[in-house]
Amino acid sequence: MNAILQKPALVLNRNWTPIQVTSVREAISLVAKGSALIIEPETYETHDLRTWHDVSRAKARLEGERIRSPRLALVPPEVILLKGYQGQGERSVVFSRKNIFKRDRYTCQYCGAQPGPELLTIEHIVPRSKGGVSSWENCVLACVECNKRKADRTPEQAGMKLRTVPRKPSWRTLAHVSPRERRESWEQFLSRAYWEVELEP
Ligand SMILES: [Zn+2]
Repeated sequence: MNAILQKPALVLNRNWTPIQVTSVREAISLVAKGSALIIEPETYETHDLRTWHDVSRAKARLEGERIRSPRLALVPPEVILLKGYQGQGERSVVFSRKNIFKRDRYTCQYCGAQPGPELLTIEHIVPRSKGGVSSWENCVLACVECNKRKADRTPEQAGMKLRTVPRKPSWRTLAHVSPRERRESWEQFLSRAYWEVELEP
């Protein structure tokens, strides 16, 4: 049961543009709150929990994989549609340790080494002692050696060059799901996003 709830579900905004990957647990909770609807990927029909329960009964092909509550037996949703999502169409990505590691792909941004998470550290480009803040633009991953070498200096002072210009990532950078986890039903929504995505200048 827990494993089903941890499976990934794709979240679309009101314009049917994918904005995030979440867990089935979170997806159901959003639908239960009335914030989202479940999409049946084959028909594009949208459902609340009640009607999804009826659809789930008919989905014989997924027999055995149900989420059960006293009143409902649900096939785990694979795609949900947010109802009232406002804003620029992208949910903001939280500035967190985990997301910095994901953005920088577990790679030292100075030398390109991938020594594993325990040998990588979050490095302030402009050191905090020189007024550098903790932000997407001022923090990158560095390996232990580069971090030591750079010490309390700016990259220029240390004669070190960043491999990329650090920016706040979009959800697309972070929503990398292993091919094993990626659901077939997502492809139609993801490829639509691929073609419609605004390219950065
Ligand atoms: Zn390095």
